[in-house]
Amino acid sequence: KRDDDRLQRYTFYHHAISSEALKGVQLTNALRKAIELNQFHLVYQPKVELGTAELKGVEALLRWNHPEHGNVSPMDFIPLAEKSGQINRIGDWVLEKAMRDMRAFEQPVLLNVNISAKQLIQENFVQNVHARLQETGFPAERLNLEITETVALYDVEKTMDKLNQLNKLGVKVSLDDFGTGYSSLSYLSKLPIDYLKVDRSFIRHLEADDTKKSIIKSIIEVAHNLNIQVVAEGIETEEQADLLHGYKCNLGQGFYFSKPLLFEDLLNYIGAGKSIAELR
Ligand code: C2E
Ligand code: MG
Ligand code: MG
Ligand code: MG
Repeated sequence: KRDDDRLQRYTFYHHAISSEALKGVQLTNALRKAIELNQFHLVYQPKVELGTAELKGVEALLRWNHPEHGNVSPMDFIPLAEKSGQINRIGDWVLEKAMRDMRAFEQPVLLNVNISAKQLIQENFVQNVHARLQETGFPAERLNLEITETVALYDVEKTMDKLNQLNKLGVKVSLDDFGTGYSSLSYLSKLPIDYLKVDRSFIRHLEADDTKKSIIKSIIEVAHNLNIQVVAEGIETEEQADLLHGYKCNLGQGFYFSKPLLFEDLLNYIGAGKSIAELR
């Protein structure tokens, strides 16, 4: 009750910023109980080889359904989880759940899991991943951790050390959302990464944008020279897929191939041997 009063007074005096701040506080508190109350689930978005549309991997994406707040976007709650320190617990849940789901897969597809900055720089991050692999029996070679370039640049030395340790375990690494931060193609050569994911913003309207076309072509060329495979995010049209295939981009992800799917739906078409194209 006293907290309520305080919040209301705060709201009264700082009206302009308060409703958003209040919402943040409410969501942060609700987040604490989300695991116990079974409000999280994962969806999996297929990642395919361009040209053949063969399934090569899936990216686990976290979903939070709250009885009052509804479906909260990870773009909104992940930052709150990072700020409040809950991201480690939540990240662990994601890793374990995704590995348990995907270990049943017959096909040797990769499992991509997003890792936030706070998680990666944790002292025992690599040991933790190792423990999860042991517990679930999921093969390390099929785990592909996605980190963003801002994370990678935050503390380059520390990141390199972690990535090298992950490499030793056999775990693969993707650089996510490439092109959105202060990306420099030159530091790519220093990071031990296996995949580079070109951000969706470079794929949007690619058809009509010659600047984007030349940027993407250069990124692909540099990456390939460094033995890094390129994944295009957010492919929504056939034309984008064809263009990127023509530029020798290796893999693609996006609504054109498939939206993120519930695990059951993923199993259904894999089990039935259906191609992604039939699912569109
Ligand atoms: P991301 O890792 O770059 O994931 C790709 C996002 O683009 C996903 O949004 C996906 O649903 C969306 N997407 C895929 N294809 C298309 C397309 O063709 N068109 C459009 N418009 N969107 C497409 P989502 O699931 O809302 O996730 C947003 C971000 O939240 C992710 O971006 C990732 O940074 C973060 N996130 C999601 N799950 C987790 C998680 O388990 N842990 C962490 N740390 N972050 C997560
Ligand atoms: Mg990602
Ligand atoms: Mg991404
Ligand atoms: Mg992105």
